[in-house]
Formats: sequence, C-alpha cells, structure tokens
Amino acid sequence: MKRRAFLKNTLAGMSAFGAWRFPAVAGGSAATLSASTRDLTVPADGYEPPSWLRYARAVYFEGHTPPVYPHLGDFDAGRLVKVVQDLGGDTLRFQPLGFRAYYPTQSKYPIHPELGSRDLLAETVRACRKAGLHIYCYAKYGNPCLQASDLDKHPEYADWVMRGLDGKPSVLDDLGWGASLKADATGDAFRRAIHQTVIELCTYDIDGVYFDAPSGFSYTGICYCNTCRRKFKEYSGMDIDRLQNSADREAQIAWYQWFGEMELADLLGFRKVLHGSGKFMLCHNGGTWHGQALREQYRIPDGFMVEHQVQVYRRLMAGLMGAAMARPTQKLPQMYMGSYCLSDFDQPPHSHPWSLESTSEEDGDEVLMEGFTDLACGAAPLYVNLNRLYYGLGSGSARPAQEVYEVMRRVEPILKDSVAVPYVTVVPSWEALQLWRSGRRGWNVEMSEGFTLAMLDERLSLDVCPSTEVTAKWLEGQRVIALCGASGLSSDTARLLTDWVERGGGLLATYDTGLYDENGQVRPGGALREVLGVDIKGEALDTQPECYYRVKETHPALGEYHSGAVVIGDGRLLPVEAVGGARVLADCWNLGTKESRGPAMVVNTYGKGRTVYISGSLEAHYTSSRVLSHRRVLTAAVRYLAGEVPPPFTLGAPRGVYGVLRRAPNADLTLWLLANVGFKDADIGRMRQEFMPVPNVEVSVLVPQGRRVKAVHLVRSRREVPFTLTGGYAVVTIPAVHVAEIVHLELGS
Ligand SMILES: [Zn+2]
Repeated sequence: MKRRAFLKNTLAGMSAFGAWRFPAVAGGSAATLSASTRDLTVPADGYEPPSWLRYARAVYFEGHTPPVYPHLGDFDAGRLVKVVQDLGGDTLRFQPLGFRAYYPTQSKYPIHPELGSRDLLAETVRACRKAGLHIYCYAKYGNPCLQASDLDKHPEYADWVMRGLDGKPSVLDDLGWGASLKADATGDAFRRAIHQTVIELCTYDIDGVYFDAPSGFSYTGICYCNTCRRKFKEYSGMDIDRLQNSADREAQIAWYQWFGEMELADLLGFRKVLHGSGKFMLCHNGGTWHGQALREQYRIPDGFMVEHQVQVYRRLMAGLMGAAMARPTQKLPQMYMGSYCLSDFDQPPHSHPWSLESTSEEDGDEVLMEGFTDLACGAAPLYVNLNRLYYGLGSGSARPAQEVYEVMRRVEPILKDSVAVPYVTVVPSWEALQLWRSGRRGWNVEMSEGFTLAMLDERLSLDVCPSTEVTAKWLEGQRVIALCGASGLSSDTARLLTDWVERGGGLLATYDTGLYDENGQVRPGGALREVLGVDIKGEALDTQPECYYRVKETHPALGEYHSGAVVIGDGRLLPVEAVGGARVLADCWNLGTKESRGPAMVVNTYGKGRTVYISGSLEAHYTSSRVLSHRRVLTAAVRYLAGEVPPPFTLGAPRGVYGVLRRAPNADLTLWLLANVGFKDADIGRMRQEFMPVPNVEVSVLVPQGRRVKAVHLVRSRREVPFTLTGGYAVVTIPAVHVAEIVHLELGS
C-alpha cells in the first residue's frame, strides 16, 4: 500500500533525531486520490493554550532585515522590548531564524557569522520576561532560508535546496526574492533541520512557535532531486517526470496529496513537541484557502494568521471567515496591521534582492483602518513595523497602532468571544476550490467577495463561514445562506443544506453552485436540484455581452422590480430548467440578438423554507460595476429569503461606511462602523486619499426581544450618546465618524 510505504520511509528517514516520532497520518487516501470530504477531525492532545493567546496584542519583529540582517551589531533586546511596550503590545513575535540563525543552533542551520558567543533569543527572552511580555518565535516551514551565494561557501546545504530538472537549485522569483533559493520541502534534510530547530526553541522560556508557511506553494514547488524522485515513486508508483506535463492531473493530484500528507505529519509532529513542552503552536494560514492546500491545516495549531487584504471589504470577508474557522475550536485568528510590502504586484521593483519593508513604511490612518477592521472581524491585529520604530526612522509615528491596542484593551470584555450577528451568511465552498482536479477554474472566492461588498453597501448584516465549518447545529442559528458560484459541493454539504431549508432556512445560490462534486467532476442536474427546483442542463454557456434580466412576474424576491421591468443582468449563464413547483421569475435576454437565453432567476419553496437561484453572477459584476440594480436584486432576494424580518441594523451614511454587528458574551451588541470613504485611486496598494470624517451618521440597531437599552456608548471616542426607540430599533446620531467608531448598546432585561 503506497501510503504505508510513504510512512515507513518517512519514519526511517526521520529516525535520526532521537525521541522524535511522527504521529500516524490521519485522513487522505493514496488509493483513491480523491478529495477527502467532511471529516476534519484532528485528535486533541489535552493541551490547553493560555487564555490570553486569543486576545494577544502581538508585535512582529522581522528577522530578515536590520537590526539582525545583514549585520547584528545594532541588536539590543532591551530596546526592542521598549518598542513593544510603547506600542501597548503585550506579546512579541521574535524571529530567531531568518537567512541565518541568531542563536547557537545544532541543526546545521547557518549561524550568523557575527553571532560569536551571543544568543539573541536568550537575550530577548530575558528582556521580555523582565518586562512581563509574552514571547513566541517565528520558524520556517518551506520558505526560503538560503541565498544563492551560500551554496558555494557551504556545500553541506546542497540537500536543503529544491532542484530543477537540470539538477540546479531553484530560485524563488515569483515573489521577487531575487537570489533566494527555494527550500526542498519534500526532501528530508531541510525538514529534519526544521524539526531540530523546533526542539531547540522549546528549550527556551518561550510561549510558543509560529510556522511560515505550510501549504504556501508559491514558496515551494516540485523538487526533482534524487531523494524526492525516489520518495514520490514509492508513494505514488509514478515517475515524478510526469509532472512536467501540465495536463497530467493524475500525477498532480498525487503530488499535492503526497505533499499534504508530509505537511500533516510535520505539523502534528511540531504540535507534539510544542504541546509536550507546554508551548502553543501557530501557523500561517493565509494561502491555505486554495484547492491544493492541506484542508485541515487550520485545525492543527492553536491559532493561525489570516492573510491581510488591502481592500477593506476583502479584509472583512477574509477576517470574518478566519474568525469563523477559529471559533468552534477556540483558536486565535490573527491578521496583520501594517504592511511589510512596498507594493504588491505590477509595480517597478523596489529592491534587488527583494527585501521586507519593515523599516521603511510609515504609519498613518490606514493602520487605524486595518486594526479596527481586524477587530471588527473578531480577529486580533498583529503589528508589523516594529523594526522601523526600533530605529525611530521617518516621520510616521506609532500613534495609530497605539490607539488600536489601547481600544483593544478597553473593548476586550465585549469583543473577546463575541460573534457576528448575521442576517445573511456567505459560505465559501472548499469543494469549489477543487475544480483544478478536473482542469477547470471556479470563481467562488471572487463571487463571494462581490456579494460581501453588495451586502456591506446595503447594510445587511453579514457573516462568512466556510463549508468546512458548516454543521447541522451551526445551520440552526442561520437565517439566510448565500452560495456565490459555489461550483463544488460535497453530497454531505448538499444534504445538510437541503435539510436545513426544509426546516425553514432561506438559501440563495448563484451561477454554477453545486454543478460539480468535490473532485471537480460534473454532477448531472446539480447537487441542489431538488431544493432549488433547478435542473442544471450543462456547464456554463459562452459569455455574451448586453445581457439583461427581464422580469416575468411580480414577486417579493425581486423587490421594487415588477413584471415587465428589465434590469442589468450578467453575461455569464448556466443553462437551467425549473423543475417541480419552482417558478421562473426572470429570463436572460440578449439586447443585441433579441434572444432569450434561458431562465435567469428561479424561486422555490421546499418544506418550510425558501430558495432563490440566479443563473449568472450579479455579485461578480457588482465588484467592478457597482450597478445599483444588482445590489437591489440581491438585497430583495436576501430579504425575501429571511421572511421579511427586519434587518439587525441600518445606517444613514454615504456608501463606503460599513457596519459589522457583533454580540458579546453578555449579550450586549456592538456595531463596528468603518468609514472607508475617500477616492480609491487604485485597487491595489495604499493609494487611498485621506479618510474624511463622515458627519451625522444615523445608526439604528434592532433591540433583541425581551431586552431594554440601558445606554449607548461610543467606545472609541469614550462618550455616551442619547438614543431614541423607534419601531423596535435604538436610534442614535453620531456627529462624526473618522475611520472607525464602535457603538456599544448596553442592554438590560
Ligand atoms: Zn528534493
């Protein structure tokens, strides 16, 4: 059996480091090479992380730049700790391993030549403990650690680096790292060194270790060294050269599964060492919501970092989703505040080799917006620009981050363990990411982002929860679920949703939702045929321009658009037919050819529940076009599905002011206002003009039945405001919101 051969080989290969033992690999099956479905169970090991971890005010010390690289003469742990204290942080993320090790490691990891008898980790641990700070370490997993010139000087690292077909070291160039060499993450030597460093880090008085970056395939790739050739052959029975054929899906699926099983074993192994030493484990999870990633990755550590997004609506979607992934198992979701990138992509190169910009970026209101957005999601901000403050460079101050951490301390009782209060919840589908297995491409993430933006603009309270966390119990608390181009659905997820609609749920599905199974294969009719009353006749038709939706019937799911109305449609279209008692509310009509292309909107009732299906993606169009009728049609559909119950809050403010409603453990409500106004000159980078104060923002929050409002507090500006009660809502007017405000409804019985 191939998997057993893999394990046997791995264990033999890893026996070199003493007491280290790999745990058994859970999940996956090399025999079928199919995507695994629901079971994500990662066995508990009895370890309990410290209670402060989920609300850590962490500050990130970067180890690829001064004061530790290329020279470390400037390093002073006391000065570093003082910066963390001045920021109001309580936790330091310290990097003892970059291109060099800054402590005397036995792992063969290259030690900084200037280290001498120093041990920067020991110095920093002492300084943190003296100051009462928590400290955890950054460690590498699969990302570059060597530079090209190292190999000439240090032939002992020859088996640490990834090899191309020609046997030459592979250079990481897709992120502009210049001459950084890719690590051989599927071989044995580099993995063994990382394991050794984890064991070593645990001998220090640290609180935990963070790993960067499992499932980060932009850092790694296919290694053609002799070890990897042999191991892949033993695992899969295939020759690794098959991977040169980009159409060879069978080999690709086997390779990612092979990598995933190694990652799973590595992460469980790290966890065993760390938890066995009483220390927590965190890992990067930014790139993990993609089809090739280890699906259960976020279940293994005690917390994870959600990758930041520049645009606020995208940050909200990622952050809410990360918090939803962390919540059931009480983990820490963490998100950057600040940036280490001068630009993202499509910009002239700023440095060669590429370097982190942790010393050259100055903070402004953008950092405030990022920090408050992170908190609004229920995620903890991680400040990144410590290295600049260490040197006191530039005119940018630390005030934005200081304010975020100061507010975070005050808001802890109502924010920690709070939950979003959704009117509608977007469910991104893991199975939709698996279309690559059949050579297809899906747009579930982008469409979900477009829908998120439409709901933020319409002030319909929103949450985001991935399909991997959808359970019957979770569904009981949901009113409306939106599946936006959720191409792939497992049979289990489809059944859960169908049962939930039958009991009274409201389901919105768009475009190719449910057309494919978890292996990316077409599922005739679609996974939700019965509940939606929609039979999908085939894959998406060719996109056409000038397509409009002609309303055939006046129906509450279409809101203000009555029979005969024509609304801006979408050129994408799935060929569908209404079945059972479902009704076609609109068709897709081409203005140029005058052709009716097929049903555009279909409503159905199923048991006690309601469904709306849209055969294109108005939400994808909305991201770029901001077409009003798209937003209104989507809103009308959601409100109809919710049974016309009143929304949890409304806002009187210009578009761009977003609201996120949260319920505290004591049942108080907080409405997080993010005044993301200002001209956005570019959709990447920090090109926004000044955030302007938005005057007279009118906020109405629905008071839960049986509760009364004792007071309304503006948490950020530390004042109480008068409120009135109108139609079940508590209404306040906020004189001005600049960047953010937190409206706290103190409730009593
Ligand atoms: Zn290799």
